[in-house]
Amino acid sequence: MKKYGLGIDMGGTHTAVGLTDDLRILDRIEFATKIGEGIPNYVDRLKEYTEELLSRNGLGISDIGSAGMGVPGNVNLETGMVEYANNLGFNNVPFRDMVSNALGIPVNLDNDANLAAMGEYLLGKSSKSSFILVTLGTGVGCGIILNGKIYRGINFAEGEVGHMTIKYDGITCNCGRKGCFEAYASAKALVKMACDAMQSHPECALWKYSTINGKAVFDAAESGDEIIKNVISEYTTLLSEGLLNVINLLQPQEIAIGGGISARADLFLPEVIDKVRAKVYSRNSAKNTVIRAAEFGNDAGIVGAACGDRLH
Ligand SMILES: [Zn+2]
Repeated sequence: MKKYGLGIDMGGTHTAVGLTDDLRILDRIEFATKIGEGIPNYVDRLKEYTEELLSRNGLGISDIGSAGMGVPGNVNLETGMVEYANNLGFNNVPFRDMVSNALGIPVNLDNDANLAAMGEYLLGKSSKSSFILVTLGTGVGCGIILNGKIYRGINFAEGEVGHMTIKYDGITCNCGRKGCFEAYASAKALVKMACDAMQSHPECALWKYSTINGKAVFDAAESGDEIIKNVISEYTTLLSEGLLNVINLLQPQEIAIGGGISARADLFLPEVIDKVRAKVYSRNSAKNTVIRAAEFGNDAGIVGAACGDRLH
């Protein structure tokens, strides 16, 4: 009997569950994460939505051959514990067992950015020797592929570039440090910067929007609003500083920028690339890291969860 894949991508705000056939997503369902309502409540809803996804495709859990799930935190692959997740408030949660028991199949639990990096790498049929995906969302995530394998560190907690300080004594991050890259370069940070800037500018185009999110910020910039264009310029400086740290450390062949706002990369990435090029330590090298927008958006997290074990 044919077996399918199940890929679950848990974000700080929403969770996507996808049914896959090899690298193809056949169908998907999304729901609000709302982790504030408790972990058992979340797991119950995950089970309900997964069952709905399967049943509307005429399938049951026994039709799933491999299942994986990404969470925005440190996942110990030996124990299945989410040891720490600053944006979910998780400390040592036995999440792999909770999810596997609820769904009735073994679920490979992993860091969400690691799985998205694997998905982007597999979907792009990449053969790059070193590839890094940096995701800009509620936080800043990162997955590192070296020599075609995901890099793990000694404790599966590698790649937390979001918690590298870029401003000593800067904004207090919920991880306990100050000046973390994610407090300046996440999509959430960009929206906060735009909201702060509009307060002293009644003429700012952003006042016309009932909901201020990443899309509204980029729409306002595209409409020519100078206040928001300045915010984006400041944001590209902050984003480039963190990327420069990553490049100066690892000099990867390629960095892809993912997360929802990468859909509007045309409005910020060229400026980031210029700023990186001007300051990178390898400025005189014939070869330098290619920085590009992620191609596969949210699909990467789902496909990486369903198929990422190929890069272990
Ligand atoms: Zn932090």
